[in-house]
Amino acid sequence: MTTLVWFRQDLRTSDNPALHEAANKGPVLPVFILDEPDQSGEDHPLGGASRWWLHHSLAALKRNLPGLVFLRGNARYLIPHLARQTGVSAVHWNRCYEPHAIERDRDIKSALKEEGFEVKSFKASLLYEPWELETRAGGPFKVYSPFWKTARQREIDAPLSAPRELEFLKFDEGEELENLKLLPHSPNWAADWQDLWQPGEEGAEKRLRSFLKDGLDGYGELRNRPDRPNISRLSPHLHCGDISPGKVWHETRRRMSQDGALAGDGMKFLSELAWREFSYHLLYHFPHLPSDNWRPAFDAYPWREAGDDLRRWQMGQTGYPIVDAGMRELWRTGYMHNRVRMVAASFLIKHLRLDWRHGEAWFRDTLVDADLASNSASWQWVAGSGADAAPYFRIFNPITQGRKFDPDGIYVRRWVPELEKLGNAHLFAPFDTPPEVLERAGITLGETYPHPLVDHASARQAALEGYEAVKQAG
Ligand code: FAD
Repeated sequence: MTTLVWFRQDLRTSDNPALHEAANKGPVLPVFILDEPDQSGEDHPLGGASRWWLHHSLAALKRNLPGLVFLRGNARYLIPHLARQTGVSAVHWNRCYEPHAIERDRDIKSALKEEGFEVKSFKASLLYEPWELETRAGGPFKVYSPFWKTARQREIDAPLSAPRELEFLKFDEGEELENLKLLPHSPNWAADWQDLWQPGEEGAEKRLRSFLKDGLDGYGELRNRPDRPNISRLSPHLHCGDISPGKVWHETRRRMSQDGALAGDGMKFLSELAWREFSYHLLYHFPHLPSDNWRPAFDAYPWREAGDDLRRWQMGQTGYPIVDAGMRELWRTGYMHNRVRMVAASFLIKHLRLDWRHGEAWFRDTLVDADLASNSASWQWVAGSGADAAPYFRIFNPITQGRKFDPDGIYVRRWVPELEKLGNAHLFAPFDTPPEVLERAGITLGETYPHPLVDHASARQAALEGYEAVKQAG
């Protein structure tokens, strides 16, 4: 039997059930289609950083699967057309869970079945199908802890190996990868990213190995420290499917059983992986999560107009060093540490009182791990408008957060070098620093580093006043 395998967010050969089963049955036609945004119906199109990652991840996949075909256009048309044109008998894919993808795949599946093709879809991007887990009362989870308590008892299938031998169906009409035009140009802001990241299956496996060897020990506590290397940085790999969550799960378990002292850190890491699952669970059951407040009472919040404040937040020019460090790390590397994501997002929503959707859109464009489920669930978590969200009135203080989680100022000095000579006591609040200390550090506020966009105490007060409208609406 000849099978068309449609690759989407599963850009790997190992633990890829759609490919694995097809390879066991006979020749394979592996295909990737870049769905054009205007045709795919996707109202949250791929951001620039994600496009960069996708290009390199596809290049890596092509090295492992030389028969891989690239196409651009509307998958609803192209998949059935290609199946007919090449005479395959079956079409396989691994499931995606974004609302537009679910609808698209459903349509394609029924069109193919009507024409007599065998169609099979598989679970490969998540540990648990979003419809598999439900509360005792029946229905979706809205709170993370009981979700995790239920999820952690489930067995996770052992990962599949990559097919040993593959026979490719010949097809000469594909595009060159370069013609998908995924890479940035004029300016090429990602010019040095290949020194930072290795998209693709090999890069993902290397990263997992090095994290389990050197980063897992202490993860539980040190994962909050942006100055420390105790995080996996697997998120962009997981998003593109360079590696499966099942493989991450089993390799982590294996490491935990090799070294009993890692049990606590290992469980913490797996519980973070489960936040990704919870985000998909929410997106599946509440498909408006990326665009609408999950708690409608937040529709009443009096957001300010975005204007110049949004631009200064994006550029890392807010005058709050921990926020600026995070925003600059994001711009320069396509990544921001989770703790700093929370502080920077909270600053946008609560200090500047700008709608979380502005932040979601900026992160979607600039993060290499931009992911519709995790990004929208996390933004709504910070905003207080989401499921199981941080209460709105808990407002991060960017000064104390900086002192607590970057105690030696290593992270801030790396990304905000104009503050390099300021001592730790003043580093997180240059605006509260005596003029002679600033002068000795070579800093002139308003010239070498910005004045703060807002005063913390009065911004906090204004945010709480705005929240009154939500309380009344709720
Ligand atoms: P690790 O600490 O090593 O965790 C391992 C894996 O668990 C991650 O790779 C990720 O897949 C998952 N994970 C960890 N924390 C979370 C979380 N809070 N929510 C969902 N999954 C999690 N993550 C994304 O993958 N894509 C996004 O677009 C995204 N946007 C975010 C926006 C905001 C405002 C915030 C506060 C968080 C966002 N996150 C997002 C979650 C989290 O910040 C990243 O998953 C994490 O920083 C990735 O780094 P890591 O791989 O080293 O994580």
